[in-house]
Amino acid sequence: MLAVIRLIFILRTVIFIISAEKVFHSRDHSDAMNDIRQAELITDTDTAQRFLSKYGFIKATDGDEPSFPAGETEVSLSLDLQEGGTASRSGSPDLRFISALKEFQQVSGLPVTGVFDDATKAAMNKPRCGVPDRDEELESPEQVFESNSTTTHTHTDAAVNASDAANNTEPHVRKQRHLAALLRSRRRRDASTWTGHMAFSKSLLKWRLIGEGYSSQLSIDEQKYIFRLAFRMWSEVSPLQFVEDTHSPLEDIDIRLGFGTGRHLGCSQRFDGAGREFAHAWFLGDIHFDDDEHFTVPNMGSGISLLKVAVHEIGHVLGLPHIYRSESIMQPSYLPQDAGFEIDWMDRKSIQSLYGVCKGRFSTVFDWIRKEQTPYGEVVVRFNTYFMRDGWYWLYENRNNRTRYGDPVAVQVGWHGLPSSGVDAYVHVWNRKADAVYFFKGVQYWRYDSENDQVFTEDSDGRSYPRLISEGFPGVSGPVDTAYYDRRDTHIYFFKGSQVFRFDVRANRLASSSPQKITEVFPAVVPSNHPVGNLDAAYFSYSHNTVFLLKGSWFWRMVSGRDRRRSVSLPPNSLMPRRDVEQQWFDICDVHQSSLRTTRR
Ligand SMILES: [Zn+2]
Ligand SMILES: [Zn+2]
Repeated sequence: MLAVIRLIFILRTVIFIISAEKVFHSRDHSDAMNDIRQAELITDTDTAQRFLSKYGFIKATDGDEPSFPAGETEVSLSLDLQEGGTASRSGSPDLRFISALKEFQQVSGLPVTGVFDDATKAAMNKPRCGVPDRDEELESPEQVFESNSTTTHTHTDAAVNASDAANNTEPHVRKQRHLAALLRSRRRRDASTWTGHMAFSKSLLKWRLIGEGYSSQLSIDEQKYIFRLAFRMWSEVSPLQFVEDTHSPLEDIDIRLGFGTGRHLGCSQRFDGAGREFAHAWFLGDIHFDDDEHFTVPNMGSGISLLKVAVHEIGHVLGLPHIYRSESIMQPSYLPQDAGFEIDWMDRKSIQSLYGVCKGRFSTVFDWIRKEQTPYGEVVVRFNTYFMRDGWYWLYENRNNRTRYGDPVAVQVGWHGLPSSGVDAYVHVWNRKADAVYFFKGVQYWRYDSENDQVFTEDSDGRSYPRLISEGFPGVSGPVDTAYYDRRDTHIYFFKGSQVFRFDVRANRLASSSPQKITEVFPAVVPSNHPVGNLDAAYFSYSHNTVFLLKGSWFWRMVSGRDRRRSVSLPPNSLMPRRDVEQQWFDICDVHQSSLRTTRR
């Protein structure tokens, strides 16, 4: 385990040291350089106007002059005239252009001047996603989505319940559109028409890299690996799972990916050559990558990271709009400086507003304690919380309130020698005299050798493993539901059905009153709000200095010393009313088994 953590640390350090990615708009193939079309550069107000129209800042149907706040018009006009800005045929400055320019400057984090200056020019020439930032259809309140279908609409509210967090990212007027109608019509729609009410109505989505659309620069294996990784990153923060499907008829594939240049793949949009637009996505459907761009594998240090672009475009297909935060993966411009990018908090909240949060029961939960030496020679005790579900585990970073990126990982990868199907319980006996880690499964248990990161076949006391639980812990027989060690009274608490067995570690025998009913040892604070028995996991949390009992999608927290000082009427060891697991520990998400071994580590 320690070795794994050390390796991760080294890898992360290496990734960090690699200098920031540099973007080259030419491909590596120097022999083919003459064939590469270059994207039109934004150099003057005419090209800027085309840019603003293309990405939806100037609306073609916008007949009315925009209204400026009082007093602002004069300033904008004078600034525009100084720059020799665009003018309409009648000779008066084009207010729509200035208004669009301001909007672009605002979302790009530039000073909002309405002036086509060098900074604005540079921002327009950055590599970017082809999905418009502003969509004219959405601005038109009369626009109604049409469906040719006559079948009954499916109720999909549960899947598309938008939260406030996501609404904050969407400045447009929200309109109700029926997802089922959208899905049936299969009409290609631009992803920026997201209203917070569109999403896939299923959680397992099939994807395919289409044969006529392979990249000419990366091997097919590299392309597929990167796409698997990109889909996996969304799986890690949402209940969605993705699987590559190379056999089903094309119309049954939910997300089709392909590379092309200029006119491509029967798409209604053209690609612009090397530079600027690198990809675009269509709602609930297709993702196209501009093969004139220099796409590279992650952390190459040059070119455009295909992984980063793919994660962004998948976000659109799933229903996300552009999000104007530099940390967001849904930010429209390609930001080359962060090589080790992640899906940030706002992105998570946005995708979860469409598809909900991850839920599920756990077989074992525990804090893994370890001693580490600081660079100053000081020995410190650190811990992380681990969640196991069958043969897989997640490391939960309490400080950041999220799982480690790239999880879940197979139990056998993290703990060498444990059963591949996972364990029932974990106990770390930890006091002045003893420091022993045990895992329990069925009627047996193993002692873990943390130094050598593997189970003991024989420990220093001459005991060989696995052993029968009844031999090591007289009075307790397996299988147990779960267990934990309480440092405060040096007892192991074994849970089995509706009973709890208190095992005195020092005396090596059961406490005299054991076993007892769980409801007696851990009474409910609110009558009948109690797990009663058949627990999934019991866990002593060093962060909270108290015990959590988990069952199904709920947990019960035992009152802490602090709770009892605040409220003296609370009985000792009593259980606070249940809460949802996902309200305490965020985004512990399954990924599809086909991508479990796809990891960046
Ligand atoms: Zn985009
Ligand atoms: Zn296309």
